[in-house]
Amino acid sequence: MANLKYSRQRAAIKEYLSDTLEHPTADTVYLHIREAFPNISLGTVYRNLNLLADMGEALKISTPEGGDRFDGRIDPHYHVVCRNCGKIYDLELDEQHMQSVNELANQHFEGTITSHTALFYGTCRECEDTKITQNND
Ligand code: ZN
Ligand code: MN
Repeated sequence: MANLKYSRQRAAIKEYLSDTLEHPTADTVYLHIREAFPNISLGTVYRNLNLLADMGEALKISTPEGGDRFDGRIDPHYHVVCRNCGKIYDLELDEQHMQSVNELANQHFEGTITSHTALFYGTCRECEDTKITQNND
C-alpha cells in the first residue's frame, strides 16, 4: 500500500510539472502538491523530484544563485534566467543549432560528446517593460 501511495504522489508531482511553464522550485511544487496530499513533506517532494529527474521524466535545472528548478518538458531545450525577477524561460532554438554545438564541442574533445545543456542570462520582456514604464513616470 505504501508504494501505491508514493507512486500516486509522484504521479501528481509529474502531472503538476507537465502543466506548468514556470520551472518551479521544490518549494513551489510542495505548496501545490500539499493541496492534494496534506501530509506530504517537503523532503518527500524533493526526493520525488530528483527521482523523476534521475528516471529522465523531468529535467533538473541547477542555477548558481537560486537552487534547483524542475521542468516537466524533457525534450532538449535551452533556458534563459532573468537576472531581475529570477524567472526561467524556455528558449526555442531549432535542433540543428543545438546539434552543431555538440559537433563543435566534439572537435575539441578527445572522447565523445553526446549532449549538452545551456543556461542563458538576461532580462525578460516583462521586466524590461516594467523598467520602461517606471522611467516614464
Ligand atoms: Zn524578469
Ligand atoms: Mn524548460
